[in-house]
Amino acid sequence: MRVGIGYDAHRFADRRKLILGGVEIPHPKGLEGHSDADAVAHALTDAILGAAGLGDIGRLFPDTDPRWKHADSIQLLNQAYLKTLEAGHEFVQADITVICERPKLAPHIEAMQERLAGALLVPPSTVSVKAKTNEGMGWIGRGEGVAVIAVAVLT
Ligand code: MG
Repeated sequence: MRVGIGYDAHRFADRRKLILGGVEIPHPKGLEGHSDADAVAHALTDAILGAAGLGDIGRLFPDTDPRWKHADSIQLLNQAYLKTLEAGHEFVQADITVICERPKLAPHIEAMQERLAGALLVPPSTVSVKAKTNEGMGWIGRGEGVAVIAVAVLT
């Protein structure tokens, strides 16, 4: 068994779509970033790469590379996982916590699990997604951005 942890945070910005776990969520603001800024996909990608000992998403897809501008992070997750498979490791399970004050993510959890699992060619039941607020505290509480923690298990 190999275990990896991933963390990501992105700032809310105007004139951006809000994409989390590969799902477009209706909200007046989106997240700032070079790619589609999908912090859920990024944290999960880092957890998988960490478990495989393959570095991190920034090393694989540098934000200085124009190829990854506006990139679909579900595609990046899929590409990172293909590298993981090449290295001889297989995905078993992941658990993800998204921390954000607004919008409410509960109605989108199932769709996120389906999109993330689709990128990994596994059943949605193996990719757990949970959402929490930060109880109004700090930068998350003020609605400045979103943070995500992910843990992945590989064989
Ligand atoms: Mg990111």
